[in-house]
Amino acid sequence: MGDKAVGFVGLGIMGRPMARNLMRAGYSLTVYDVVGSAVEELVTDGAQSAGSAREVAERTPVVITMVPDSADSEAAILGEGGALEGASPGSAVLDMSSIAPATSQKIGAACDAAQVEFLDAPVSGGEPKAIDGTLAIMVGGKREAFERHKEIFDILGSSIVLCGGYGAGNTTKLANQIVVAANIEAVAEALVLAKKAGLDPNTVYQAIRGGLAGSTVMDAKAPMIIEGDFKPGFRVRLHQKDLHNALLTGKDLGVPLPVTSLVQQMLGALINDGKGDADHSAIANFIEDMAGVTVSGE
Ligand code: NAD
Repeated sequence: MGDKAVGFVGLGIMGRPMARNLMRAGYSLTVYDVVGSAVEELVTDGAQSAGSAREVAERTPVVITMVPDSADSEAAILGEGGALEGASPGSAVLDMSSIAPATSQKIGAACDAAQVEFLDAPVSGGEPKAIDGTLAIMVGGKREAFERHKEIFDILGSSIVLCGGYGAGNTTKLANQIVVAANIEAVAEALVLAKKAGLDPNTVYQAIRGGLAGSTVMDAKAPMIIEGDFKPGFRVRLHQKDLHNALLTGKDLGVPLPVTSLVQQMLGALINDGKGDADHSAIANFIEDMAGVTVSGE
């Protein structure tokens, strides 16, 4: 296979459209996921399948991983049958999962020892931007590796920033997730208050979205809360995971994160309520339940 061969491990909500964009850009793709049906979908689109992350790395010079959390990245890269077992010196692993920065540092060190390039490169923008190839990509690692693989990131995203060494991409992503979570929670409280006051939540949204309160988060999530449409999108359980990683990182650094902690508890309660796979805009359900009112209801 030539230089334009890429491997992709983890074909979920984000991985599938990202993998498709690489194929559309002319890369020949070898894919693996622990779920067979996800692999078959990509094979139908023209990808080749592999039986493990190791096999993907044996067949391609660059392996992208897009799996849920720290333990999954460790399994896919450092574990038995993982990418590092199959990677030759000079090849690269680009982990685009959102995981704990400390785990990215551990994976980076293991890749250094194997002379394999590593970048942690989590993304923001969700499924719509994954489909459009306009993700924001936050990268940690060595500048030479960043320059070498930026061509791939340019296909997947429209904002690509090297933030520092190993783990810096994921620290930046945690900063992003804190802002998004607190913002959704505030939008939810505002709409629940408006609804219980007898106002039309959509009118309130339209009135405030152009002022200082307006935000990308508000424009993405207020319509979903108003419609009562919580189809993911970004799952409650993934955001709970990100805030958990933020709290762990805050603990390591001695940084209290009081609001992050509160919203993380709300997300945990929603998981217990069977809503782990709902969109994170379902934070509104927690506020609605406390207030005894539904924003989308009559
Ligand atoms: P997802 O649960 O839809 O997909 C994850 C995929 O990884 C699944 O298909 C799963 O089977 C596979 N997987 C897990 N462990 C594996 C392993 N060891 N080897 C191979 N495959 C494995 O999740 P997603 O929404 O695609 O998110 C992926 C990552 O991107 C997460 O870290 C998430 O936080 C982040 N992210 C998601 C969004 C979003 O809007 N969905 C936005 C930004 C970032």
